[in-house]
Amino acid sequence: MSLTRVYYHPDVLDHDAGPWHPERPDRVSRAWRHLQTTGLTDRICQMESLPAPQEAIETSHTVRLIDDVRRVAEGEAQAMVDPDTVITPATWRAALLGSGGAIQACDAVLDEGGNAFCLHRPPGHHAERDRAMGFCFFNHIAVAARHLVKTRGLERVAIVDWDVHHGNGTQHTFDESPNVFFCSIHQSPHYPGTGAAVERGTGAGEGTTLNVPVMGGQTDDDSLRIMQQSVGPALETFGPQFILVSAGFDAHAADPLGDMRISTAGFRQLTDLICEWAHQWCDGRCVSLLEGGYDLEATSASIGAHLEGLLAAPSG
Ligand SMILES: [Zn+2]
Repeated sequence: MSLTRVYYHPDVLDHDAGPWHPERPDRVSRAWRHLQTTGLTDRICQMESLPAPQEAIETSHTVRLIDDVRRVAEGEAQAMVDPDTVITPATWRAALLGSGGAIQACDAVLDEGGNAFCLHRPPGHHAERDRAMGFCFFNHIAVAARHLVKTRGLERVAIVDWDVHHGNGTQHTFDESPNVFFCSIHQSPHYPGTGAAVERGTGAGEGTTLNVPVMGGQTDDDSLRIMQQSVGPALETFGPQFILVSAGFDAHAADPLGDMRISTAGFRQLTDLICEWAHQWCDGRCVSLLEGGYDLEATSASIGAHLEGLLAAPSG
């Protein structure tokens, strides 16, 4: 059994791009209620997220993008970046909490062991260095990986992204980095259109990107097989000191934004595999971050299954 922390702050519910938007506050409030009604909140260690300092966001984003988000919070009119991505007055604080909680989670796992899940929104993995896109403003997992490498001195951090969409922002952030191995399983062709198998990193980072684009319709067994046969061996060779997971649940069979067939139990199996890898390679050090997941019931249940897996992880 592992000590599993869940980082959360109610202010992440305040970012609201409108009732029509699939990335809505209910995604997280429903999930939190699910954890309460199933008794999971009694078994996890509840942690309150703190906003990241701006310097931490600057490790992964331009000052211009950061200023664009902050100015709306300071009273400028709501800004539509693209039809899916709207900066509201509450976006600044919610996005800072998403990155800040991820940094806290990494520090706690590194210093005290156990593992952690970050229950935040808006998500982050589409956010590019200089551009918000795809519901994402600041790339929390990129900020967290930079923190582990730059501030904490780790040399090899792995990011596994099983969201149904390719994590373009994360990949591009670490394209040239030999210190961060990014691997993604995602539906293709699909938004955002990046993530071909030939994209393997560049320069000093060549070989530290692994993309596995798949057609829609993949089942639990298909996903598990890809993880075991492609992702596992690549990561084992890399030898991560820490594993971060972009845990989107929009590859669920019930999700309206993807065409995959993963079940709630399938997400538990994927979680168990990650925990086994973390146990074998890096003393169990693993932090996962909520990315997508737009069917409210399926996302809540999958988050519950994911936490059951993290709690059951072999310790250390
Ligand atoms: Zn997604």
